[in-house]
Amino acid sequence: MIDTNKIEELTELDKKHFLHPTSPIGQQQKEGPSFIFTEGNGVFLTDMKGNKLIDGMSSLWNVNIGHGREEISEVAKEQMKKLAFSSCFATFSNEPAIRLAAKLAEIAPGDLSTTFFTSGGSESNDTAYKLARHYWVLKGKPNKQKIISRTKSYHGVSMGATSATGLKPFRDFTTSIAPDFHYVDHFSTKSLRSLIEQEGPETVAAFIAEPVQGAGGVHIASDGYFQEVREICDEYDILFITDEVITGFGRTGTYFGIDHYGVTPDMMCFAKGVTSGYAQLGGVMISETLHKEFKELSTGTLLHGYTYSGHAMACAVALKNIEIIERENLVENAAVMGQEMLQGFQSLQEKHSMIGEVRALGLMGAVEIVKDKQTNERFESPLAPQVVNEAAKRGLILRSVVFDGQDTLVFAPPLIMTKEDITSLISILDETFTSVTKDAV
Ligand code: PLP
Repeated sequence: MIDTNKIEELTELDKKHFLHPTSPIGQQQKEGPSFIFTEGNGVFLTDMKGNKLIDGMSSLWNVNIGHGREEISEVAKEQMKKLAFSSCFATFSNEPAIRLAAKLAEIAPGDLSTTFFTSGGSESNDTAYKLARHYWVLKGKPNKQKIISRTKSYHGVSMGATSATGLKPFRDFTTSIAPDFHYVDHFSTKSLRSLIEQEGPETVAAFIAEPVQGAGGVHIASDGYFQEVREICDEYDILFITDEVITGFGRTGTYFGIDHYGVTPDMMCFAKGVTSGYAQLGGVMISETLHKEFKELSTGTLLHGYTYSGHAMACAVALKNIEIIERENLVENAAVMGQEMLQGFQSLQEKHSMIGEVRALGLMGAVEIVKDKQTNERFESPLAPQVVNEAAKRGLILRSVVFDGQDTLVFAPPLIMTKEDITSLISILDETFTSVTKDAV
């Protein structure tokens, strides 16, 4: 039964007391929350009004194993009963954190074998910048402190992560950002090389990149791009950091996004899919070489740590999540279903004049909206937000990206998607485009 009184009560409380993350404040104040979700089951979310929607974004690119997994709640409950939390500062430790660090070493690319734990993606990226700068201090090169990132990148909202974020509106949100952050064109290794030359390699600590850019519009690098990045970083003695916060744990059809390119970064940041959102956890993996140097060169204390670094319950949840990903072959499923999703996009592209470029790597995809397919001309004001609203009315959650003149829909459904689920997703999208096209012409 729909409890309209309760919905009204919660709507008013939401408007008055809840400042939503990354939200249109005016719309929230006027309309209240569009969905108050109460339940998640597999690829579906259900709200208080009884609406059941396909979670086409895995919520925030993170619920990789899908919603409502009892196995995870059991593990969380058992771990909480035994030991929910104990400090990992100094030389204290706990079994789930130790076992998770060891498991990550098994699945991560190359010689990435040691993990620093955080509570999320932004903290992981800030940690990577600080570890990179600390590394160069230990090496007697304290001037190597600049961090280079890419246009259209998103690395989070803490001070360091915002500063590295290439999407300018996020940086413009505050009146100042941290110093020593620089940006290069997201597809061009030439631009990376020339910025390093211009700034002087002796001032550059690290280069950070998402293997596939997510929040910036799902941009997939060309085949040789990251191999060249690795070579440039080696040539100039610059650390290479990958931000696998979205692309980690199967999203792109390989365990980690960088696996598509066959190169190993010096540090790898992760979060989201490590627990599929069932607990707040992230981390930075460092290479064996880096770890060895830290061990040899450090004399004092590693003065960087979050209260929740190595949270026992969150680590236990992550271990179970990884077990599920492996047991159900979800990495392979993401690759296969990703192809299905891409083919679905391509069939819609033939049918709808408004669909321009479509792309996907695993279950991470994008559909561009254009006014004219031939010239790639865009509509005067982007239509993607309207498509997102219309899709939600028809039972599909999507996200729009309108930064930098883009008019793009992005997709990241759970890795448990079946062929039938993909068919439903594509058919809702089809209906949505039919309806929006009628309005647009
Ligand atoms: N890095 C990437 C690539 C992300 O997509 C995100 C969040 O979407 C972050 C970092 C920030 O993670 P968090 O929101 O957990 O701080």
